[in-house]
Amino acid sequence: MFGSHLSIAGGLERALEAAGELRCDCVQIFTRNQRQWRNPPIAPDEVARWKAGLAALSWDRPGPPRVVSHNSYLVNLASPEAGNRGRSIMAHRAELERCEALGIERCVIHPGAHLGTPPAKGPHDFDRPQSPDERAGLARIAAALDRVHRDLPGYRVKTLLETTVGSGTNLGFDFRHLASIREAVAEPDRVGFCFDTCHVTAAGWDMSSPAKAAKVLKHFDEVCGLEHLLAFHLNDSQGAVGSRLDRHAHIGLGTCGMACFRAICREARFASIPKILETPKEGDADQEPWDVVNLRRLRGLCRAPRASGVPSSVRRTRRSGGGAASGAAAGSRGRTAATGKRTPRSSRS
Ligand SMILES: [Zn+2]
Ligand SMILES: [Zn+2]
Repeated sequence: MFGSHLSIAGGLERALEAAGELRCDCVQIFTRNQRQWRNPPIAPDEVARWKAGLAALSWDRPGPPRVVSHNSYLVNLASPEAGNRGRSIMAHRAELERCEALGIERCVIHPGAHLGTPPAKGPHDFDRPQSPDERAGLARIAAALDRVHRDLPGYRVKTLLETTVGSGTNLGFDFRHLASIREAVAEPDRVGFCFDTCHVTAAGWDMSSPAKAAKVLKHFDEVCGLEHLLAFHLNDSQGAVGSRLDRHAHIGLGTCGMACFRAICREARFASIPKILETPKEGDADQEPWDVVNLRRLRGLCRAPRASGVPSSVRRTRRSGGGAASGAAAGSRGRTAATGKRTPRSSRS
C-alpha cells in the first residue's frame, strides 16, 4: 500500500479526497495543527464527514489499516522536565482519543529527546553501550506510554515509534531504542514501529545496495521484529549516510539508493503495510504533482527487475528539472491515469 502525508486544510476529509485524486492506497495526516499544544476534541459532524470520506474511497471495509496519524513534533515523552513531559503525555493521550474517534488505528510518534548529553559527533556508533541519559530517556518514554495506556483502556489504535536521524539528544536512531521501549511497556501490543528510510539512512544505515538493504532489514528484524513494523515513511535523503540530517528528498534523487526502496517495495511481508511519502510537494515535476511521480516510482519497483538501477521516470525528471506549479491537478489527469496500469500485486500493496 502506497500513500502520502496529505493536508487537512479545509477539513480532515480533504486529505481523503486528495488521497483519492492521487490514487493513494493509504494516507497519513496530522489530525490537528501540529505546531500548537491545543488539543481540540473532534466534533461529531467532523467524524461524520470523515467517515463519509472513508466510505467514498471504500476504505471503510475490513482490511489492513489505511490511515496513519502523525503526532505533533512538540510532543517529547522523554523530557526530563516534568511540565514538558506532562504536556506531552496529555497531547499524546488527546491524539489517541482523536484517532479512536476517527477509527484511525496507527499513530506515529517520534520517541523523544532525553535533553542530557548528546552522543559523540560523527557517525553514530551502534555498538556502544547505552549512556545513562539514553537509558533514563527510554524509561521515561515507556512510563509515559504506560500512563496513557492506563488512561485509555481497550483502545485499538497503536502508537508507532519512528526511527529518527538521532540529531541532538533524540532517541530512536538506534533500533535498540525502539525495541527497549516496547519491551518496557506493560501493554506491548499497543506499541509498534515506523521505519523512515531517510532517517535510517541519515542515522548511518547504508541501504544503497541490495545486500546492504537486506542486511539492515535483517538487523531491524532481529532487534525489533518485523511483525511489529506497521508503517513505512518512504523518503529519500538529502543528507549522506550518517549525516544526521533530516531532509527528505524525492524518491531516487537522494542518498538512500533505489535498492533501499526496492528491498522494501518487493518484500511480500510489507505488501499491506502503509508506505507513506513525506517528500516535498512544492513545484511540479513535468507538470505532475510530485506525489504522483514518487508514487509511480515506488510502484514501479514492485514489478520485474530492471537492468538499470534508476527508473526511466527518475532520469527524465532529472533532465527536465522542476516545472510550473500551476494547474497541477488538471494538467496531471492524463498521466495520473497511467498509474492505473498497476499490477495486481502493486495495487494491493
Ligand atoms: Zn517520517
Ligand atoms: Zn524526517
